[in-house]
Amino acid sequence: MSEAAKTQSQNDVAIQIIGMHKWYGEFHVLKDINLTVDRGERIVVCGPSGSGKSTMIRCINRLEEHQQGQIIVDGIELTNDVKKIDEIRREVGMVFQHFNLFPHLTVLENCTLAPIWVRKTPKAEAEATAMKFLERVKIPEQALKYPGQLSGGQQQRVAIARSLCMNPRIMLFDEPTSALDPEMISEVLDTMISLAEEGMTMICVTHEMGFAKTVADRVIFMDAGEIIEQAPPTEFFENPQSERTQLFLSQIL
Ligand code: ADP
Ligand code: MG
Repeated sequence: MSEAAKTQSQNDVAIQIIGMHKWYGEFHVLKDINLTVDRGERIVVCGPSGSGKSTMIRCINRLEEHQQGQIIVDGIELTNDVKKIDEIRREVGMVFQHFNLFPHLTVLENCTLAPIWVRKTPKAEAEATAMKFLERVKIPEQALKYPGQLSGGQQQRVAIARSLCMNPRIMLFDEPTSALDPEMISEVLDTMISLAEEGMTMICVTHEMGFAKTVADRVIFMDAGEIIEQAPPTEFFENPQSERTQLFLSQIL
């Protein structure tokens, strides 16, 4: 491959995980994870509870440390180098099951806190950006309220807006709708769908299989710390190869 072609192909890759293992003490939680995510690709990760889905995506922005193998995000390899960890965290936004908003700060303050204090963005600019993203998640009118005054679905949309304020190139979602009442799930999924349509690189841990069918380029099934199977959604749902995938799908569909 020519140098130019090599650079080109590296630029097309957002995340590369090679032979990655992780242990919690003696417990081998992730076993030989290999995964390449292209820029703009949308991945859905599913699998039984305890299979290592959260741990895998938390390793990508170093909320958890892996012990073996490589994780390369945007061309930067994750090592103990704090500077590199910071660089990667700049690229990667994360949204959790529990929204983790600060209850004593307004919606707007939740969204501007990191831009002002971590990025040193001037306050007026941070607020303008925050309002832009609150409009995008369709709750600009809630900007001056406190999280406790919002519904779960609204709080989760704030959490998404807050992440977007840091201008990430990659978004990780860890079961963002699983703590929500059923009637609020679709407003959060709609927000995620619109992000996907704008070309955001996304890894979403979710059991919302309708979302997977609409949005995912690829569905990954994990069980017992391993990636068992991966395929485009049509293939994944219509013709799952492994018995474990078949069993899982029969339980959730
Ligand atoms: P999932 O997200 O697929 O439900 P997790 O990644 O949360 O799975 O957990 C995978 C396994 O690792 C589970 O058996 C869980 O109990 C264990 N585990 C998760 N976090 C820790 C931790 N901090 N220390 C020890 N074990 C953990
Ligand atoms: Mg989990």
